[in-house]
Amino acid sequence: MDSTGKITAILDALETQYHNEARPPELGHPEPLDGLILTVLSQNTNDINRDRAFSRLKSEFPTWPDVVSAGASRLEDAIRTAGLAHTKAARIITILGRIHDDFGEYSILKFSGHDPEYMRKYLRALPGVGAKTVACTLLFDFGIKAFPVDTHITRISHRSGISPLNAKPEDISAMLERVVPEARCLGGHVNMIAHGRAVCHSQKPECSSCVIAGLCDKNLS
Ligand code: SF4
Repeated sequence: MDSTGKITAILDALETQYHNEARPPELGHPEPLDGLILTVLSQNTNDINRDRAFSRLKSEFPTWPDVVSAGASRLEDAIRTAGLAHTKAARIITILGRIHDDFGEYSILKFSGHDPEYMRKYLRALPGVGAKTVACTLLFDFGIKAFPVDTHITRISHRSGISPLNAKPEDISAMLERVVPEARCLGGHVNMIAHGRAVCHSQKPECSSCVIAGLCDKNLS
């Protein structure tokens, strides 16, 4: 089986197991800037703490101009549960300022319709915005083809052999974006994360109950 066939077989098996085929309704935002800031908050923390921080931010400062008026110090207090609050608050204020300078408002809705490569480069140049944040924003909030790669997807890719052991998340993301059809990127992303959380743990993976064990280099070696 070639590499594309193996990736397709893995996505098929995970889809049968976890059933995420289409866009989960909770993942997108009417204003994509919300999704971008949420992903900035998600760095180096878990989903629960990220969501708590975002929820408190929104309840204390309902609009993005409110956040800018409040300033970095008050924002830092509001997002403390997400960790690295000082750094993240400073980045968020800078991002909001740059978005306002470039778009004339605290919104990136006008981005829709731009060339995806331009969007990718623009977002990547914002402070604290890495490849995964860009891919999440494109995929979830703009519905543009992207395959965000987190620690779970990196681990499964390395172990299964669909990427070399030294491949970085950004390389794996680019490879998956080349190989996986657009309609399968979101479901594939969500299913791989689900599998990393449920079965392919970083310590003691449960290979005996893994639905992709027959495709996995680590299990077969
Ligand atoms: S067989 Fe084991 S190492 Fe391979 S993907 Fe499944 S749980 Fe992970």
